[in-house]
Amino acid sequence: MTKAIVVGGGPAGASAALGLLKQGFEVSLIEKRTQWSGRVCGAFLNSEAIRHLEWLNVMEEVKKAGCVTVSKTSITSLLRPSSEPILFSFPTPGISLPRQALEEILLNEVRKKGGRIHMGSRVTSVDKSGSNWRVFIRQQTPPPRFELTVVDPLEKKEKADTLEAPLIVMAYGRFSFGEILSTHPQNGWYGWNATFSRVPQKPGELSLHFYPGGYVGIVTFNNGESNVCGLQYRTSETPLVWDTIFDQAVARQPGLKRMLSQSQRMSSWRGVGPLPFSTALTPSEGAILVGDAAAVGDPFIGEGIGRALAAGPMLATAIDLAKKKSSAQELSRIYASLWKKAYSKRLKMGSVFRKGLQHSRVGGLLSELLIKQVWIRQIVIPKLHVGFSAPLR
Ligand SMILES: Cc1cc2nc3c(=O)[nH]c(=O)nc-3n(C[C@H](O)[C@H](O)[C@H](O)COP(=O)(O)OP(=O)(O)OC[C@H]3O[C@@H](n4cnc5c(N)ncnc54)[C@H](O)[C@@H]3O)c2cc1C
Repeated sequence: MTKAIVVGGGPAGASAALGLLKQGFEVSLIEKRTQWSGRVCGAFLNSEAIRHLEWLNVMEEVKKAGCVTVSKTSITSLLRPSSEPILFSFPTPGISLPRQALEEILLNEVRKKGGRIHMGSRVTSVDKSGSNWRVFIRQQTPPPRFELTVVDPLEKKEKADTLEAPLIVMAYGRFSFGEILSTHPQNGWYGWNATFSRVPQKPGELSLHFYPGGYVGIVTFNNGESNVCGLQYRTSETPLVWDTIFDQAVARQPGLKRMLSQSQRMSSWRGVGPLPFSTALTPSEGAILVGDAAAVGDPFIGEGIGRALAAGPMLATAIDLAKKKSSAQELSRIYASLWKKAYSKRLKMGSVFRKGLQHSRVGGLLSELLIKQVWIRQIVIPKLHVGFSAPLR
């Protein structure tokens, strides 16, 4: 088994490709986007993410791109939204970095290490042909203003619309092959974000503002711009208009209103939903699922990128444990057991908080317990920020 196909070029796909390249695989990565169009994300990377960036050998590039250390967060209470925010220090600091910078660094590293990247190529279906996976691809039409920053031309010999390999890694993110946004009135959790200027936070400052039915996280980058990102439970009565969802958040959270009173939105809104949250690894019949394709966790525990970046180190560890000779099926079994050990409990814990937020009284009590009982924080927060550690190689 020497060939692998990775579907999706977000942090999980790029990390998986790098892990496989380190193990001597020939890797083709297929990414549907033709240009950068933003991500709905809070842009906070926890200490697990930093560990994996080091393993992937890109931490120097990340520093050059201007990441800033985030060592604490200020939280406004759900039960007492008008009260002063409370400061929490992370047991080990994280960083903030715009997603575009992170993803360009990772894809450039895949290229540098010999991976073949096919941008603008959408995987439409996957099936099994003997011991190989077969991937069907449709070329995306580039939009008129084609940006060349992260776009590779397709190599001639791979211009065909199918690829085959014994190993396949699914890194297609939250919505598998489906579309991103349901415009139908559907109850569920919706995420949104936009870039703002003039938010009174210094680079590296992170604040979380809870309110009944949702929260907003604000992180400030080294250029002084801030990523404002929210998650809200939307019922079918609320129109799917991001301005309205944002206005509701501001109206329900006085601390947020104060903070954003002088600020200005600089980008258009991006939004997704309803989010398909899960607490267990999605079954895969021998394919390897990484990042959000494996499971979509609750964003407020700030671990999604860390879990996505774990794909490479975890796959490389699974390959070592499988002694390189075993089948893709065996590799996928070993990988699944590493994944469950690292993430199952944390995902369940995150889902308890989210359900609490939906029923604001319960969420309020949970957040008050976290705020007031130091011993609970000391047990819970380190558990949320540990994740996977690759053995030293
Ligand atoms: C509101 C919100 C805030 C968040 N904030 C944070 C945060 O602050 N910190 C944090 O760590 N995490 C956060 N997350 C989670 C984090 O964004 C995700 O966990 C992370 O992006 C997962 O990475 P991924 O590579 O698995 O998926 P993605 O980043 O979604 O990448 C998937 C890639 O696959 C491509 N793709 C999809 N389908 C196909 C196809 N059929 N063919 C080819 N390519 C395809 C897509 O174009 C995309 O590039 C947040 C999530 C939400 C919803």
